[in-house]
Amino acid sequence: MKPLVAGNWKMHFDRAGARALAGDLMRSLPAPLEAAEVAVFPPFTSLAEVAAALSGGDVTLGAQNFHPEDSGAFTGEVSLPMLLDVGVTRVLAGHSERRHVLLEDDAFVNRKVLAALKHDLLPILCVGEKLEEREAGKTAAVVERQVRAGLKGVPPERAGDVTLAYEPVWAIGTGLNATPKQAAEVHAQIRKLLVDLWKEGGRGVRILYGGSVKPENSRELLKTPEVNGLLVGGASLKADSFVRIVRAAG
Ligand code: PEP
Repeated sequence: MKPLVAGNWKMHFDRAGARALAGDLMRSLPAPLEAAEVAVFPPFTSLAEVAAALSGGDVTLGAQNFHPEDSGAFTGEVSLPMLLDVGVTRVLAGHSERRHVLLEDDAFVNRKVLAALKHDLLPILCVGEKLEEREAGKTAAVVERQVRAGLKGVPPERAGDVTLAYEPVWAIGTGLNATPKQAAEVHAQIRKLLVDLWKEGGRGVRILYGGSVKPENSRELLKTPEVNGLLVGGASLKADSFVRIVRAAG
């Protein structure tokens, strides 16, 4: 399976900055992209600009957030039809900042996954334990709960449209990354859960690693069993570091 490298730009860049970064990626990434798939997740205000800058290339466009309803009285929210309208093809669901800062629970994350699939958008379901949960020996239980709850009601025939991302919360934006051994343990557990849920279909689902991925650690993480790509925050904000990570993927 081709690795996926996804760049989460979080709440960074005005339109000019986002356009400049997308343009740099278009100039610096190999074209066509053969060894890896690449997606970027700009803020809402830059989605249309970035869609235009990426047009004709292989880098795909993702959105960091959305509301599961198609329309309605949800002040401040953005729906999937709106995202489709600007060319988005992938969406994040369950990112730790949405779970722990914006207080989205497992049930809401599940609604988002199901809504994305209903609109034929490809969700990346993010899961991962907090530091206190790891220290209390609860990593496996937390990850299992988030995977099972997040994927509730997703039929096996949609397995190919889903991507998982293991992102230990203590590793996100902290400079601390999981060791390949820690990542391998949790990725193997997630693979087992996916096979348990979807049988053979679960074997083809990508499981990304995320959490302080940098050019310096990306190659080793990508060699780790069951790591099928990377979700990159900080290091995706500069073309040079993101391109080095993509090149490490192939
Ligand atoms: C993320 O935003 O999903 C992430 C992993 O961030 P960082 O790479 O900065 O830790």
